[in-house]
Amino acid sequence: MSTLELKNVNKIYPNGFHAVHDFNLTIEQGEFIVFVGPSGCGKSTTLRMIAGLEDISSGDFTIKGKRVNELGPREREVAMVFQSYALYPNMTVYDNIAFGLTLQGVDDDVIEQRVLNTAKILGLTDYLDRFPRALSGGQRQRVAIGRSIIRKVGIFLMDEPLSNLDAKQRVTMRAEIAQIHRETGATTIYVTHDQTEAMTLADRIVVMKDGYVQQVGTPKELYFDPVNVFVAGFIGEPPMNFVRGDVKGGKFNLGDNVLDLAPVLGDKLAQYEGKHIVFGFRPEAIVLGNVADAYPVKCNVELTEMLGDNTNVYIVSGTERAILKVDPHDTPALDADITFSIPHKDVYLFDAETEMVIR
Ligand code: ATP
Repeated sequence: MSTLELKNVNKIYPNGFHAVHDFNLTIEQGEFIVFVGPSGCGKSTTLRMIAGLEDISSGDFTIKGKRVNELGPREREVAMVFQSYALYPNMTVYDNIAFGLTLQGVDDDVIEQRVLNTAKILGLTDYLDRFPRALSGGQRQRVAIGRSIIRKVGIFLMDEPLSNLDAKQRVTMRAEIAQIHRETGATTIYVTHDQTEAMTLADRIVVMKDGYVQQVGTPKELYFDPVNVFVAGFIGEPPMNFVRGDVKGGKFNLGDNVLDLAPVLGDKLAQYEGKHIVFGFRPEAIVLGNVADAYPVKCNVELTEMLGDNTNVYIVSGTERAILKVDPHDTPALDADITFSIPHKDVYLFDAETEMVIR
């Protein structure tokens, strides 16, 4: 049974700004859903409408089949973790975690047992007597998460919970959040602008732009089957390479290279004759040299970035630029003229007008 359902949900702020347009999503019990998109796309607004911190302008929001649009945050049985940890500085870790239960008047021995359990899940057992100022950023974030999970609500909402941590802590906490989700089994909705966080944590990702949902899918679906240029460019690092141009005589110019589109477009070739299209390929979906069933591309190497596990190679052909991701042992020399191949099966074509993928 589905836990949460948003049907044609809209948010229009009092100043008239339409921040969320017709948001539709059904979330199953225990799912880990990530809302991702650039700043201002409406992901926090949507999360806040789910939390009950923001009115829903129109549409229906149901939890277990019951409409909750008008219920306040407490009555919705959701717990929220924010960017800023919002811990009480004059309370110990124990008291911070226990706070919600203390307010509810839960018995002390029940509180103790639940705080100890929560602290164990979060690796905070040795820090229960400390005050927040004596904790690292990652530890503070864990206390904030502890304060939410101790309430044992079924729905867990997180708004960029890792944004105050440094790069290393973010990777550690990301794994911990995945582990906490496995242990609690709570339905989780997580907001981030970071596609890596989205890809690593989510069962399903909701990609948003300008208040509109672009695509909902598993990380694999979004990576291999993006519906439009925006999703294709947002998911993946470095992003997909795009080259814009016209189809002429069934051919497409990628810089100085002329590609025959027949193997990719098949019987749609005639339909796109004379049309403007976007040719996309991922930096990692190439092979150096010539291979069968692929487009050979001649180009010049402008820059290389050795990252250890791979090298990013910045190339130019004519006026077109792209990035290739290669094995560091195969790093080409600067200014070298090289040939790489794009397998036909790894080419994405988009209609330049609608920006939608051509399937
Ligand atoms: P970020 O990652 O920067 O937090 P976001 O995707 O979470 O971005 P929201 O905070 O949901 O974006 O905001 C969506 C849009 O709504 C933005 O254009 C923002 O300026 C606008 N907005 C947010 N709050 C209000 C408000 N109270 N009144 C009017 N407009 C608002």
